[in-house]
Amino acid sequence: MKIGVLALQGAFREHCWMLHECGVEAVEIRKADELDEVAGLIIPGGESTTIGKLLNDWAIMDKIKERAAQGMAIYGTCAGMILLSKNIVDSDQPRLGLMDTSVRRNAFGRQCESFEADLYVKEFGVEPVRAVFIRAPYIEEAGPEVKVMAEVKGKVVIARQGRFLATAFHPELTRDNRIHKYFIKMIQE
Ligand code: GLN
Repeated sequence: MKIGVLALQGAFREHCWMLHECGVEAVEIRKADELDEVAGLIIPGGESTTIGKLLNDWAIMDKIKERAAQGMAIYGTCAGMILLSKNIVDSDQPRLGLMDTSVRRNAFGRQCESFEADLYVKEFGVEPVRAVFIRAPYIEEAGPEVKVMAEVKGKVVIARQGRFLATAFHPELTRDNRIHKYFIKMIQE
């Protein structure tokens, strides 16, 4: 199985390493037609305004939507979560808008207010997930088809809607690959 990692900006290398560790081939995606060969796509953290602009400039935005409609699974971390959301509070920046969510950017505070937390997630067993939040967003509202998988400080930070998965934090910056394994399982289902 091949999984694409959007490699325009942000923390894409770490996602590739993590996929390799899970025994999956990772393909760095910089052009629209490269999406044809992958069963899933990871959108990394970074700057969602920049990534969104580059997606439009390089004509990848519509191609991702087209592949998503054909069944390609997508996992967005942090900026990736923002790009997946239908609504972004106080912003008209470009987005995919594939998840029925409303997200707030930089919602836990500034860079220096970045933090780590232990999340207890039913799907990942008893061992907590150590989550790294860097100028992270959270999901403020979610439609009925969105499954909330974890919260921190009373805010939604992991959610799934069908083939789309979003985390507000960066699992690729830790040694814990359970979320990547979960995404791989989502693709295989
Ligand atoms: N604050 C960034 C944004 O709004 C996201 C930060 C991140 O991906 N770590 O795009």
